[in-house]
Amino acid sequence: MEPLRAGKRIMAKPLTVEVAIVGGGLAGLTAAIALASAGIETALIARRANADHRTTALLIGSVTALDTLGAWAGCAAQAAPLRVMRIVDATIRLVRAPEIRFAASEIGLEAFGHNIENRHLLASLDDRARSLSPLIRFEDEARAVETNESSATVTLKDGAKITARLVVGADGRRSLCRTAAGIESDGHAYPQTALTFNLAHARAHQDTSTEFHTESGPFTLVPLPGNRSSLVCVVEPSETERIAALDEAALNNEIEQRSHSIHGRIAVEPGRGVFPLAVETARTFGKSRIALVGEAAHLIPPIGAQGLNLGLRDAACIGELVVSARRDGGDVGSSDLLSRYDALRRADVKSRTFAIDLLNRTLLSDFLPIQSARGFGLYLIDRIGPLRRAVMREGVAPAASQPRLMRGEAL
Ligand SMILES: Cc1cc2nc3c(=O)[nH]c(=O)nc-3n(C[C@H](O)[C@H](O)[C@H](O)COP(=O)(O)OP(=O)(O)OC[C@H]3O[C@@H](n4cnc5c(N)ncnc54)[C@H](O)[C@@H]3O)c2cc1C
Repeated sequence: MEPLRAGKRIMAKPLTVEVAIVGGGLAGLTAAIALASAGIETALIARRANADHRTTALLIGSVTALDTLGAWAGCAAQAAPLRVMRIVDATIRLVRAPEIRFAASEIGLEAFGHNIENRHLLASLDDRARSLSPLIRFEDEARAVETNESSATVTLKDGAKITARLVVGADGRRSLCRTAAGIESDGHAYPQTALTFNLAHARAHQDTSTEFHTESGPFTLVPLPGNRSSLVCVVEPSETERIAALDEAALNNEIEQRSHSIHGRIAVEPGRGVFPLAVETARTFGKSRIALVGEAAHLIPPIGAQGLNLGLRDAACIGELVVSARRDGGDVGSSDLLSRYDALRRADVKSRTFAIDLLNRTLLSDFLPIQSARGFGLYLIDRIGPLRRAVMREGVAPAASQPRLMRGEAL
């Protein structure tokens, strides 16, 4: 067999570890750090990810988890706090919802979370991962995953093999691990595209994120450090081409207009993203010694900043189950553990997916009774303090799932 390259180490025979993780995006890296920092021998099969210009709004539980894992200090200076969130109905419909303003201080928090560019978060996670000796990184791709009663084997592109008790599939929406486990998924595409930009602007954002609801979807400005924000603008696909064809000055004007000039003059920074919207959920999150985390398990539209926050809770949850099984001398890839993982994660993923799908569909609907129901729902949230606070608490810390790391407890 060809020698196996792991960082600077050369190994002549197949490696056996407790857990092998396929995919080194934000969810996979976090899972790897969670396991290795608790002393679990872990192999991470991941080429260095090239982060795009996207940003992630991390809710408070995610920030606490990253801090507990020693991965937040390295990027905290590049993150902006989210202290206020506004929802503004910018439709021109007959029935419009009132503006809603959620303040973190109303539920005793300094901030709902922080917004950060993915490249800074990825770099900090990479640094932390490199410092953990139980973690061996293979800068390669997985080509096949085979499982049997007692183990799973990952074959890399270079032919090397890694055997583990459990494989964590963190390999994104077209997951090889999901296919290898024979797990099907349900979902559909939306007639919408998310355009992403980072912007500099004339006026201060005052740590406030503003979501304008329009007939084609949300237009959301989220603070970055300084007078900068990230923007996710959801449009119909036909609009995508028109906006992509705009020159810099025209794009600056278009965004300033769509943002009702709340931040004054806009200067779009280099780097634009285009993401067709879709929703997809795996029918189970664990089967045949394979556990799915992040977008390998669930894909949701970038509305309400939930996707990676769910992915980090997946990583924290599988980490917790593995560490506990290992302490009890159990099998970390057993079907019992995988069933518990699925049960623990399903309600959280289902409720978020349902809420975002509902919000998006009611926004797109031209049906007056649906628009009225949406407006009335938002009116109630605005006017009834206890309801508004309950919505805020559920938004930042879901009752269905608070793994130990999200509570600041080490594994
Ligand atoms: C426009 C937009 C804005 C968003 N904003 C937010 C937000 O504000 N807050 C939030 O919580 N979420 C947000 N999200 C969602 C968030 O970006 C995703 O949930 C997150 O990036 C998914 O991370 P992941 O690690 O699961 O998957 P990925 O980032 O897709 O990582 C998967 C990795 O696996 C690798 N891989 C694939 N196959 C293999 C293989 N065979 N072998 C080895 N490696 C492999 C890939 O190369 C990749 O590096 C947003 C999404 C979009 C589109």
